[in-house]
Amino acid sequence: MDYSPVLLEIQKEIKPLIGKGKVADYIPALASISPDKFGMAVTTIDGSVYTVGDVSEPFSIQSISKVFTLTLAFKYVGERLWNRVGKEPSGNPFNSLVQLEYENGIPRNPFINAGALVIADTIISNSKNALSTILDFIHSVSGNRQITYDRKISDSEKRYGNRNAALAYFMKSFGNVINQIDQVLDLYFHQCAITMNCIDLSRSFLYLANHGVNPLNDERLITVSESKRISSLMLTCGLYDESGDFAFLAGLPGKSGVGGGIVAIIPGQLSLAVWSPALNRHGNSMAGIKALELFTTKTGISIF
Ligand code: GLU
Repeated sequence: MDYSPVLLEIQKEIKPLIGKGKVADYIPALASISPDKFGMAVTTIDGSVYTVGDVSEPFSIQSISKVFTLTLAFKYVGERLWNRVGKEPSGNPFNSLVQLEYENGIPRNPFINAGALVIADTIISNSKNALSTILDFIHSVSGNRQITYDRKISDSEKRYGNRNAALAYFMKSFGNVINQIDQVLDLYFHQCAITMNCIDLSRSFLYLANHGVNPLNDERLITVSESKRISSLMLTCGLYDESGDFAFLAGLPGKSGVGGGIVAIIPGQLSLAVWSPALNRHGNSMAGIKALELFTTKTGISIF
């Protein structure tokens, strides 16, 4: 199927939403991005790419990186991972502290910040150079070895990262962070500061659409079951406390980031990446959510 006409239609229909909402400004380096950008890329498992808008411009992937790090941590420790992090939607903002106290330092899921910090800690414990391990993984699934992080953004995250530091210290008090706090935070801030464009992002999620095998080189990265579990977590927890609404609207496993990107997959078929930096009150791209909803409505394909 040629997805170009449907992408053009979507671009036209979401125009009134572009720039609506607010660019994330709690990380100052993100505040200077123009809210008027919009790009969308579809990559099918056989490698065809369809695009519309600003698809070649790299942006900060932020929380989308949590899917890559979850994949690595899951590979390292398998089911033991779930002793340290849960699998339930949190129903709370992504950087909330309150639930952690009630639940003895075990984060609800790997996609809220607390969960991602535990995952970062797991990667540090299991690899020689954790940041290179993450970048190598992204290079292999995207096919682009130029992808790296933006130092201005990682510095900015660090300078304004008090809340993430609070989460890490709090979990350490329960014994759920093993490595040094600075090391864990440093890795987390760098993974969030990785920049990618829509084309690379859509390609890099094909291993999940393809049940654990990277279609770029036929390498099995994770088992069918691990791929199913990660995709399920995207469906139930991928858009912070708006995950239920997103599942209802788009019917797809997805993962968003406060840089304005959202990636979604249709298992067995394709992966989609959309970027528009203006966010709604949950921290998700306003135009991005609508674009993904329109895609599944217009094409009639979703996971249901
Ligand atoms: N670096 C961001 C933070 O820790 C990530 C937030 C996100 O995209 O959810 O607040």
